[in-house]
Amino acid sequence: TWIVPQANMRRPNILLTGTPGVGKTTLGKEIAARTDFTYINVGDLAKEGELYEGFDEEYGCPILDEDRVVDELEEKMSDGGVIVDYHSCDFFPERWFNIVFVLRTENSVLYNRLESRGYKGKKLQDNLQCEIFQIIYEEAMSSYKEDIVHQLPSNIPEDMENNLDQIIQWIEQWMKDNN
Ligand code: ADP
Ligand code: MG
Repeated sequence: TWIVPQANMRRPNILLTGTPGVGKTTLGKEIAARTDFTYINVGDLAKEGELYEGFDEEYGCPILDEDRVVDELEEKMSDGGVIVDYHSCDFFPERWFNIVFVLRTENSVLYNRLESRGYKGKKLQDNLQCEIFQIIYEEAMSSYKEDIVHQLPSNIPEDMENNLDQIIQWIEQWMKDNN
């Protein structure tokens, strides 16, 4: 299904969240390829704009300046038609999103993905624990209205296809209902 852009149509904003490695970026880019929606990877945005407020010595990675990220995105979000991809979700304004998808991956599958991404030691273990204890799902459920938060399994390629189809259908329905 392709969603044909029409002038002045209202479009929803979509948040894709979940533990690193669950498939947010792959899915987000696929949605963007099949719609006229804009895909935004918050990690990349932060890197490009150096939107950091320090350095985490333990993890060896910069700390996101959440306020500057929000300022940077505010204007784009007001137009709708944006897909946001990030592994955390409690600092975005609740009003930005019409729907929130939390991708979920089984432990052994996620282990392999993160290992082949080069994660090891504490970083690997902490990310696996994050998924096991469904930290991001609970973060989403406490940051947004529970009825707009949906979990999607993301273990095998067929899951990816199903999720893509489901989200495209949801977008089409939303646009019918809101235009
Ligand atoms: P994230 O952006 O959440 O960190 P990515 O989209 O980068 O995750 O995906 C991590 C890796 O897992 C990629 O190699 C991707 O191809 C693979 N992957 C993601 N989702 C699935 C899936 N449902 N089935 C098989 N492989 C997947
Ligand atoms: Mg990613």
